[in-house]
Amino acid sequence: MDWPMPTEPTTPSVMDQIVSLCKRRGFVYQASEIYGGIRGFWDYGPLGVLLKNNIRDWWWKCMVECPPVGPDGDIVSMVGLDSSIIQHPKTWEASGHTATFADPMRRCTKCGHIIRADHYWDILVTTSKWFNDLIQSFEYAPTPTPYPALTTGPLLRWANRAGKKLAPNMALVRNPEVTLASLATRVNGQPTSPPDVREITQYLATEQMHMTGLQDPCVLCGAPMGTPEQFNLMMVTYAGTTQSAENLVYLRPETAQGIFLNFRNIIDTNRIKVPFGVAQTGKSFRNELTPRNFIFRSREFEQMEMEFFCPPDDALKWYEFWRGERMKWWLTLGIKPENLIFRDHATDELSHYSKATVDIEYKYPFTAPDFGELEGIAHRGDYDLSQHSKHSGQKLDYFDQELQLKLKEQGASAEDVKSKSRYIPNVIEPASGLTRAVLVLLCEAYTYEKGRAGAEEWFKFKPKFAPVKLGIFPLVNKDGMPEMAEKIYMDLRQRYTCEYDPKQSIGKRYARMDEIGTPMCIVVDGDSLKDNTVTVRDRDTTAQERVSVDKLHAYVAAKLEM
Ligand code: ATP
Repeated sequence: MDWPMPTEPTTPSVMDQIVSLCKRRGFVYQASEIYGGIRGFWDYGPLGVLLKNNIRDWWWKCMVECPPVGPDGDIVSMVGLDSSIIQHPKTWEASGHTATFADPMRRCTKCGHIIRADHYWDILVTTSKWFNDLIQSFEYAPTPTPYPALTTGPLLRWANRAGKKLAPNMALVRNPEVTLASLATRVNGQPTSPPDVREITQYLATEQMHMTGLQDPCVLCGAPMGTPEQFNLMMVTYAGTTQSAENLVYLRPETAQGIFLNFRNIIDTNRIKVPFGVAQTGKSFRNELTPRNFIFRSREFEQMEMEFFCPPDDALKWYEFWRGERMKWWLTLGIKPENLIFRDHATDELSHYSKATVDIEYKYPFTAPDFGELEGIAHRGDYDLSQHSKHSGQKLDYFDQELQLKLKEQGASAEDVKSKSRYIPNVIEPASGLTRAVLVLLCEAYTYEKGRAGAEEWFKFKPKFAPVKLGIFPLVNKDGMPEMAEKIYMDLRQRYTCEYDPKQSIGKRYARMDEIGTPMCIVVDGDSLKDNTVTVRDRDTTAQERVSVDKLHAYVAAKLEM
């Protein structure tokens, strides 16, 4: 019988390769790299910013400029907003962020290292040097034994050698005999339910079982972790001439609240009626305890959020509608359907005000075969507007004239007409991460093919989202070819992001373009000058086609705007 080993949650090589290609080709850099970096912050390089803008623009197009047709057959009403990152501090009291926007945190009792409590085991397994070394020393008792028994020799050797360097504060290292005796008692005492790797690790981290119970070891030094405490994630700064309590403000942890604060303004200054949505994209800040997995969880990131205001009786219908629409939208980015799932929140997971919430999750290389959050769609009831109304003293209800007429026509009682036609709208909120969407497209597009002509690894972006759409080259940098290629470049760059590159061998230029995911390369060669044609090479098939320059626009448009 094998001891259960931790499931490997990452395919490190794929993720490492993606991160390395992103750095090499200017998609994402570590922020402040020349100073050794700053944890949880990233800079989007020349190609990363193009990719991010392409996703954001498509979201804006589909939400604000061309919103879908709603469940009632009418085009959904939608407007945009760009609210301030810093709002009145009362905003966050009303929204509940000051009191409850916290993660459970644990601090090492010796070295002070802090970790997010609910990510503890996952972080230990994936990042701890001593843990990954120690598990090599886990052995099983030789058969035949009726039950698995502990082979303590290798653990003792580990404690006396590698453990001293890697995890000096761990109970196993400080007091191996007592620790191993306690583990042996457990293994031999309950032979029919052998401990799993997590429990074994806890035993190895516990010196005085009778006093402390089982302990979790620090990911860095092996000392016991303290009990969970709440840690507020909001970042603080000061607005004003003194850094005093009355000038304390927060960097927004989500873009949504700016929308609620402007609900009245938007209704009063636009010809818009409930139901309608307000969409916003922008930076958010969270003092994440354990920023990790590249840009998946960072301390500064971008969100794409929409608050949809609707009559309370219609809220469930709109919730179902947005759930479906949002999944359809992610598929338009070229993500394979099998890599996306819905995960409904269980009742005990819902915020107290939420009637239903579902996450759209993606199979990231570091979560596979499991999935991780990409977007949350929440039915928030009237919580937000009610709270802001209460805390600001302003009325944030809505008089629904159309509903009033409809109810009258239906013969509703005067009392019903009055009570139902004035209400605080309910909110359906699809909230997603733009920077997480960048990560998803990078993971989805990353392709590796050993021995392939050109680049062996490249980003196979759907053309619409590729940062550079066209590479335009003269075959050789002479004989009139650069002039013709430049002319084509000057023309096509008006419409698409193009790169002109006259140098190096054609193979190298193709490979560079493949790597960054450029869907097509246009090459001007000797024949081009004679017959006004060019070669167009396809990134994925590497097939080349001869196209007349007169038809180039139509040809390129058909392929790129797919
Ligand atoms: P998580 O459970 O991953 O911490 P959340 O449920 O707190 O996320 P929301 O508050 O619902 O996230 O925010 C909406 C979206 O914003 C998330 O689905 C995610 O795409 C993105 N997001 C949230 N936190 C971060 C972060 N620290 N870094 C990058 N993106 C984030």
